[in-house]
Amino acid sequence: MNLFADVILPVPLQGMFTYSLPPALAPLAQVGQRVSVPFGNKKTQTGIVGRLHDQKPENMEVKEVLELLDERPVVLPRQLSLWQWIADYYLCSIGEVFKAALPGKMKQKTSVCRTRRQKSTPATSAAALAADSLAVPGVDETSLPVLSPAQSEALANIHEQWASHSVCLLHGVTSSGKTEIYIHLIAEAIARGQQVLYLLPEIVLTSQLTERLQAVFGQRLGVYHSKFTDVQRADVWQRQLSPSPFDIIVGVRSSVFLPFSKLGLVIVDEEHEVNFKQQEPAPRYNARNVAILMATRAKAHVLLGTATPSLDSYYNARMGKYGLVRLSERYGKVQLPEIEIVDLKELRRKRLIQGPFSPQLLEKMRQALDAHEQVILFLNRRGYAPHVSCKVCGWVPRCPHCDVSLTLHSRSQDTPTGYRKLMTCHYCGYTTEIPSRCPNCENPELHQHGFGTERIEEDIAAIFPEARVARMDLDTTRTRTAYEQLLHDFAAGQTDILVGTQMVTKGLDFENVSVVGILSADTMLNQPDFRAYERSFQMMSQVSGRAGRRHQRGYVLLQTMEASLPLLQQVVAGDYDAMYQEQMLERRQFAYPPFCRMVFIYMKHRRSREVEGLARELSEQLRAIFGQRVLGPDEPPVARVQSLFIRRIMLKLEPSLPLAKVHGLLQKARTGLLATKTYNSAQIFFDVDPL
Ligand code: ADP
Ligand code: ZN
Ligand code: ZN
Repeated sequence: MNLFADVILPVPLQGMFTYSLPPALAPLAQVGQRVSVPFGNKKTQTGIVGRLHDQKPENMEVKEVLELLDERPVVLPRQLSLWQWIADYYLCSIGEVFKAALPGKMKQKTSVCRTRRQKSTPATSAAALAADSLAVPGVDETSLPVLSPAQSEALANIHEQWASHSVCLLHGVTSSGKTEIYIHLIAEAIARGQQVLYLLPEIVLTSQLTERLQAVFGQRLGVYHSKFTDVQRADVWQRQLSPSPFDIIVGVRSSVFLPFSKLGLVIVDEEHEVNFKQQEPAPRYNARNVAILMATRAKAHVLLGTATPSLDSYYNARMGKYGLVRLSERYGKVQLPEIEIVDLKELRRKRLIQGPFSPQLLEKMRQALDAHEQVILFLNRRGYAPHVSCKVCGWVPRCPHCDVSLTLHSRSQDTPTGYRKLMTCHYCGYTTEIPSRCPNCENPELHQHGFGTERIEEDIAAIFPEARVARMDLDTTRTRTAYEQLLHDFAAGQTDILVGTQMVTKGLDFENVSVVGILSADTMLNQPDFRAYERSFQMMSQVSGRAGRRHQRGYVLLQTMEASLPLLQQVVAGDYDAMYQEQMLERRQFAYPPFCRMVFIYMKHRRSREVEGLARELSEQLRAIFGQRVLGPDEPPVARVQSLFIRRIMLKLEPSLPLAKVHGLLQKARTGLLATKTYNSAQIFFDVDPL
């Protein structure tokens, strides 16, 4: 009999924690069950049984498991092994993976085992749901779209690729009807009795898509994302453990953690999206890559779909690691939009432009509005004005907690009356009123430079007073209902002009959009990141793809200060391969991914002296092991956030280095430094394959 349980606890400490099982619980305990245990100065903490055994730990006091919270495991063995893989690969603790994986409600101490069995518990509600679903008829074949010849060919090619590759990349231009191909593949998988995971980069995309999928798959479809309540998420989890789980899960990155018993297909839509990578907190995992691993282990097929592949995936396809299928015509053979480059430098020189709108753009917008067509304006910057400064002394308002200047917002969602001007830190949320005079020199004139989406919205409303203008950015989509309302109004033709950030570049399918304005290519191109051009190409091509999807050809105006940049010609020509070739030359020359693997090491501390010292010591230690592969330490673009000073060390590792060994050495260096008296209040964490 097993007398001890190694328990996974939601803490950043490495490994599992051993507890003894009292005689009453020992025969009932199973791997994957939740347990309640005492931990630290907490009386109880909810954990997961990771391993059962009968080896008494030596030289150590062992506390007892207090309670088993489940009759049956809520985490399957293959999930636990995935958690361990994520912890090893992304250099975090398995407890942090547990924390990210389980819905909040299941991490609380809610026993479904003994004490509360009569009440409605996740287990019983899952059973009720399951009973419901037994009454659900099969896939409604009549609602399956008839594929065009090009789509059918792509579908056949995907199958052919899967015969020899587990992962296939579908490179299909915008509005080529990739979703309809996914729908066919899903129906096939269901017919084989398999489950499907459909991963999306973010929830903005889900409502339009789930409606489309729901029309075909009805109750077989479950949705899982962070704007759902904990209870809803816990219900989906429990249902996946029940005898009749959802056949399809549509979800954002955390849905890779759901239990699947017969996974047959994973679709990663918009596979190039950066959102698949979790930035904060740990685990800093890439859900696309985790999904590929998970599918490979389950012997399931993977389809990566996008109009603008990530260079990494395209490289894998070109090297023969992934299959590659192209779909280069739009559904209904509508032409791809015509893209015109607008040279802002020239317009300024000739004094033909004042604000952010070129005469060409205004004219095209006017024509579209007159024809009752819709317009999308894209600017990669939220708020009213990105810079505020004193005209006399140059004073700039800065966040007291972070090393960044504050962004002016005119319509803070915090003020019911709207138009009060507030300044906000985009890193920590610190907000303050704009002072009436400069706190430095008393000068009453504070200058607002530049444009954010709020100011664009305001200016456009003044130029086209009859047009109905809406804005879609982080500030207007804080709730699910808010963004659904925005999309609904736009789809219903109740909005003429939609102004927005990256959000408007993503997957939206509206038939009446004829003009797209890219207000400033330069804000994207000038990002301090070796992926800036790749990203810019993706964003510009994607937002262009929102135009003219159904009837006549759409028109895109691309405003820039760098009109002769080859990258922009590549966007205009829709020449992904030219972009790929050019970027890969640079990546190879400077040894960037995919020609190396990168690991960023971040160090944080309340005091700058300590963080400096730590960065120096750690980089010296690492140089002794990894030599030239170590770069830095340096200051990241924002070197203090929420009162913590930040330093960064970068590692560029050749792909052939043994990963486990490297990661072991990194963990050891970290643990060693954190154990010293000088640095025990510092944070050191890793970002593997940073994006
Ligand atoms: P993509 O995801 O490739 O950008 P979508 O899947 O959104 O393209 O398809 C674009 C539009 O064309 C959608 O409105 C879709 O309903 C329509 N469409 C695509 N394929 C078909 C088809 N086979 N039958 C009917 N409509 C289709
Ligand atoms: Zn001043
Ligand atoms: Zn701040």
